[in-house]
Amino acid sequence: QLAAAASTLTGPGQTSDGYGIKLLANVGSAKNVPAADEVHAEGVGLFRTELLFLDRTQEPGLDEQIAAYRDVFTAMSGRRVVIRTLDAGADKPLPFLNQEGEPNPALGVRGLRIARQRPEVLATQLAAIAEARSQTGADVWVMAPMVSTLAEATTFAAAVRDAGLPKAGVMIEVPAAALRAADLLQVVDFLSIGTNDLSQYTFAADRMCGALADLLDPWQPALLQLIGICGDAGRAVDKPVGVCGEAAADPGLAPVLVGLGVTSLSMSPRALPAVRAALAGVSEEECRRLARLAVAAPDAVEARKLVL
Ligand code: PEP
Ligand code: MG
Repeated sequence: QLAAAASTLTGPGQTSDGYGIKLLANVGSAKNVPAADEVHAEGVGLFRTELLFLDRTQEPGLDEQIAAYRDVFTAMSGRRVVIRTLDAGADKPLPFLNQEGEPNPALGVRGLRIARQRPEVLATQLAAIAEARSQTGADVWVMAPMVSTLAEATTFAAAVRDAGLPKAGVMIEVPAAALRAADLLQVVDFLSIGTNDLSQYTFAADRMCGALADLLDPWQPALLQLIGICGDAGRAVDKPVGVCGEAAADPGLAPVLVGLGVTSLSMSPRALPAVRAALAGVSEEECRRLARLAVAAPDAVEARKLVL
């Protein structure tokens, strides 16, 4: 019993009946890895690479990028690291990339869309990731932000493989991508749902706008329905579907996400112990029941009431 209790505190994520859900950490650099270690994260589910690029007037060079990625890969010593290619634009403008004066930057040339105009930036980043991987032998998965179409996913996956990297995925942040999750999974190895942006684009509500917090609530049934489309698509082909937005950090919502077919949750490390404990208290069957209740609820308030 003591061993079981200890495993609930530090072991791999699982439901009460032993169904595994990977509990991963969001990091921005190797500096965040000790916090992930402290809570026994099973890997990194979102390595945001923007940090290295912030405040630069020029792109960081290949060697500098290799060193930064290698630091994180080494610190995670063998555990999975899902690294996201540069997510510039909207709430993360980068001086050397984003054009001034886009009237709607959140709807503009951001995330993977930058590669339309500056393909060499993505190519350099993939080359640096591949080199850092080969120097460390790390379990590296690569994903792109802000993907909307099958064509974008296909082109990105090809670029990842051309760089010699084995695992290519896309983030689901745009409703169009969620609706076509099954198509996307024909060309990529995994999906990772960015609920911060997926909420923003589903509800047409700026993620930075506190006055619209009710629309950005991750318990909104419409958001959960889109997550369920992705989860079903993943189950159908047995490919991983993670959540790496803020929604993954809500212990009450975690069983619902698992019931919708989500196979990993990535969050800021401090949130991880409560999520681990919440999952340990429910069976997989119960997760599926709670997911059906939440999606069928008329609104977020009712969804919470039905589940919590
Ligand atoms: C998201 O959009 O949910 C996400 C994880 O990416 P970011 O918050 O960095 O945009
Ligand atoms: Mg995002």
